[in-house]
Amino acid sequence: MSGVAIVGGGWAGIACAVELAGAGRLVTLFEAAKHLGGRARGVDWNGIRIDNGQHLLIGAYGETLRLLRRLGTDSLLERRPFELRAPGFRLALPSLPAPLHLAAGLLLARGLNFTEKWAAARFMRDLKASNFSLPEDIPTSLLLRQHRQPAALIAKLWAPICIAALNTPVEIASAQVFCNVLRDSLAGSRADSDLLMNRADLGRLLGDAALAFLGQRARLAEKVNGLTRTETGFQLAGPEQAAEQVVLAVHPGRLPGLLADLPEMAAISNSVAGYTWQPILTLWLRFATPTVFPFPLLALSDGHAPWAFERNDLAPGLVAIVMSADGPHLTWPVERLRDDYLALLARALGPLPALRDWKIITEKRATWTCTPNLPRPDNATPLPGLYLAGDYTRGDYPATLEGAVVSGIKCARLILKNNP
Ligand SMILES: Cc1cc2nc3c(=O)[nH]c(=O)nc-3n(C[C@H](O)[C@H](O)[C@H](O)COP(=O)(O)OP(=O)(O)OC[C@H]3O[C@@H](n4cnc5c(N)ncnc54)[C@H](O)[C@@H]3O)c2cc1C
Repeated sequence: MSGVAIVGGGWAGIACAVELAGAGRLVTLFEAAKHLGGRARGVDWNGIRIDNGQHLLIGAYGETLRLLRRLGTDSLLERRPFELRAPGFRLALPSLPAPLHLAAGLLLARGLNFTEKWAAARFMRDLKASNFSLPEDIPTSLLLRQHRQPAALIAKLWAPICIAALNTPVEIASAQVFCNVLRDSLAGSRADSDLLMNRADLGRLLGDAALAFLGQRARLAEKVNGLTRTETGFQLAGPEQAAEQVVLAVHPGRLPGLLADLPEMAAISNSVAGYTWQPILTLWLRFATPTVFPFPLLALSDGHAPWAFERNDLAPGLVAIVMSADGPHLTWPVERLRDDYLALLARALGPLPALRDWKIITEKRATWTCTPNLPRPDNATPLPGLYLAGDYTRGDYPATLEGAVVSGIKCARLILKNNP
């Protein structure tokens, strides 16, 4: 009997495994790929390692920061006070205690007129008065209309935050989840609103360190094909392993397949089978010499915009341009996409060094579409001993690293509590 089996070595599964192993429990982490990290991992590219997709963390990611501290890699994050820069627009939150940082930031924001600044302040004040809790979940665009937010303010501030955080366009994004994000970022403490940029590839940030911590307890390239009940727990098909408790920490799109032989899980399986997905595209550019950014993260236009990240940490001259969510850009020929984004980057930075290499990575099912009232399963399931971890399980956050890590920790704590 193998104690706890965790299926899936993304950030949720890793967080769960590290927490349980740290508490002295017998734990085995099964990962189908040859590496840990799932949707946030390192990828080899012509002699350097990049991220599968550019990520951004914020100071409010408390459990993620605790996990990285435990593994000794939190120093690979660069912390900057919140700043949103786009052509003709800048909102920077100064180093003042909350809520003064937001008030001062809005007052001094560039590219917003007085009416727009006042509308933003009023919106945040009204949300705070209702504890960022809505009477019913609605599309974010409707919430913004109800609060009479001017179109220019939506295009410059709210839409970029919504698309970046929820990876879902404002027209269909959950207003409640959007409010949760605002509560913990702009309206949180100053430190919570800080932006954290990984200054090493995502594999170094988590996957490699987790592998070193877990050692033989992490079994790579071992896909679990299914799950059946036994008298004492579960049997995993594939590794042919028995376990008393199982944590399924897979992408929600993989969940129904793994639950096929467990009729008690049919309701959860069916509701997750109704999810739809949003892509994220990252264009990696390698210039002959380093580029100089006024801030390491720049929105290249208003609204649904690509964002550019300076990534000289990975290799001198590296830039990542990331485009969230669905959109016409996905149908463009790759050369057009590269040239359009290069032109936007040149508009922001001035003349660019010679381009030596480029690569596009599109994660088609990067995140689940974060729509109003989406059913999200609990971490505990109707089957004793079976738990669900992953960014889609019940929680305040959209599909994020923090949502994934929190879910993994919650599963570990449930197991420790239920099996003292
Ligand atoms: C391009 C991109 C950009 C993003 N940007 C951000 C960002 O800026 N900020 C942010 O917070 N979040 C961002 N996200 C979201 C974030 O990466 C995810 O929410 C998070 O990584 C999900 O982790 P997870 O552990 O829940 O799932 P996953 O990462 O999907 O992990 C599941 C793991 O299970 C494994 N697996 C699946 N089936 C099996 C099986 N049968 N047997 C064994 N193993 C199996 C998979 O190989 C995978 O490793 C981004 C995502 C992408 C793709």
